[in-house]
Amino acid sequence: MPELPVFAIARHRIGIDGPGVTTLVGVQGCPLACRWCLNPHARDVNGRHRLYTAGELYDAVRIDNLYFAATGGGVVFGGGEPLLHADFLPGFRALCGSGWKLSAETSLNVPAENVMCAAKAIDLFIVDIKDMNPDVYRRYTGRDNAQTVENLARLLEAVGPQRVLVRVPLIPQYNEPADREKSIAALRSLGVARIDSFSYVLRDGQAPH
Ligand code: SF4
Repeated sequence: MPELPVFAIARHRIGIDGPGVTTLVGVQGCPLACRWCLNPHARDVNGRHRLYTAGELYDAVRIDNLYFAATGGGVVFGGGEPLLHADFLPGFRALCGSGWKLSAETSLNVPAENVMCAAKAIDLFIVDIKDMNPDVYRRYTGRDNAQTVENLARLLEAVGPQRVLVRVPLIPQYNEPADREKSIAALRSLGVARIDSFSYVLRDGQAPH
């Protein structure tokens, strides 16, 4: 039975992860090494976490069932990279039914089969695309983005554009507004309809990892 490595569960989030009251489930482990990562402790698969079966996680979050149902909210899987554990998600969906909205914050830099598995369970994918330029992406994350772009096209075809929100950041020291515009144009040509363009805000004294 798949288990999910969870480093934190945060309840009663309002207006942060889309409509409704949400509970954020932070998933341990990430294949990227973003220089301005806000959760560096979440990157190491061996970092501090607790393993949950789908039943155990359902028991931990269902206390907010009435809030989810009344506000159109639900559970957001973040991290780290929750799609590293995509095989966990259909079992969790089967337990919570269709009344809760399930979202995943993901880079999509995971094997294609993980994305297709998550597509069976997740209502909204919030994709952190970084930058569509492969050179900018590699400098910022340490990885190539070819898999990410292929997965995005695959996901759009599988679930349709309304279930995919792509976040396009301005990244201090790594891209410029003109790069972000180029990313947005490339995303639109792929069929992305929902785009959130924003800027990373660094904390005082934050240094790259
Ligand atoms: S994808 Fe997210 S968790 Fe992973 S390294 Fe980048 S910012 Fe950190």
